[in-house]
Amino acid sequence: MARKFYVDEEECIGCGACVDSAPDVFSLNEDNIAEIINAAGGSAEEIQDAMDACPSECIHWEDED
Ligand code: SF4
Repeated sequence: MARKFYVDEEECIGCGACVDSAPDVFSLNEDNIAEIINAAGGSAEEIQDAMDACPSECIHWEDED
């Protein structure tokens, strides 16, 4: 089963790096905040890439401590 993940919208600075890493998973909304448009739109590797690329470190796995 795919791991769940989320964006901490309070920390997002709207840089778009996650969209570049996984364009079918993340999008920027009208407030320039990342949102998950399709959690199944990318591989775990792509989602991890987005997490690693995020300068605010605001994308997290649900089961992360
Ligand atoms: S990479 Fe991080 S800070 Fe940049 S838009 Fe995505 S969630 Fe927001």
